[in-house]
Amino acid sequence: MSAMLEVQNLSVAYGAIEAVRDVTFTVEEGQIVSLIGSNGAGKTTTLRTISGLLKPKSGKILFEGAAIDSWQAHTILERGIAHCPEGRRLFGRMTVEENLQLGAYVRKDTGVEKDMQRVYELFEVLGKRRHEKAGLFSGGEQQMLAIGRAIMSRPRLLMLDEPSMGLSPIMTQVIFNTISELKSQGTTILLVEQNALAALALSDRGYVVDLGRTTLEGPGHELLADERVRAAYLGED
Ligand code: ATP
Repeated sequence: MSAMLEVQNLSVAYGAIEAVRDVTFTVEEGQIVSLIGSNGAGKTTTLRTISGLLKPKSGKILFEGAAIDSWQAHTILERGIAHCPEGRRLFGRMTVEENLQLGAYVRKDTGVEKDMQRVYELFEVLGKRRHEKAGLFSGGEQQMLAIGRAIMSRPRLLMLDEPSMGLSPIMTQVIFNTISELKSQGTTILLVEQNALAALALSDRGYVVDLGRTTLEGPGHELLADERVRAAYLGED
């Protein structure tokens, strides 16, 4: 069986700036896969390219066997890839419920209400505050809503960009527990994180991205034990 997502020798440039030079990785169905690496390594650019927001200069992106790199963003979303962006990008003047409805806009079926309940089961606080405006929420609650909005499109592959950014250790744990829960409910996850320790601990597979290239890969627990990873990303000598 082929992988759910295959990114092969991807390169992406902003004008003359080559943000991604040679990124190659695979996500198998049902897995959590992490891309880790320092600020500016090209992780966000990689996710934005998979989503169809940027076009590759070269390389291939295959989703469930189809080459999607020339597709438009809305087609990619309809096909089953949702992107929860860095910085959350919520509509602060809209309520929780309105933000969740926006996440479901590509759907043509009638199950939206049921899935909203699923989000409220996952994040109880969102259900309690469903009529409040998102802009009033804490960073952690906003991250919950951003994830909730992304899963309203019923993705088979959910891409999360720095979900722990700016969150307390306790809130980070809540978010990472939710990611594991989503996996157990059948969603495949591609996670971009600077918090390499927490990300690798729950990942089936991890890739290190350095200066636009994937340089190391392996099962999450193996990368966690790798001295090069520990020295560069876990703050150890
Ligand atoms: P971060 O965690 O900070 O988002 P990252 O690994 O996701 O880091 P990218 O955001 O993909 O890295 O950035 C990769 C490179 O591309 C960096 O050198 C960055 O300065 C550059 N870059 C990112 N966005 C743009 C843009 N819109 N225009 C020009 N250069 C950009």
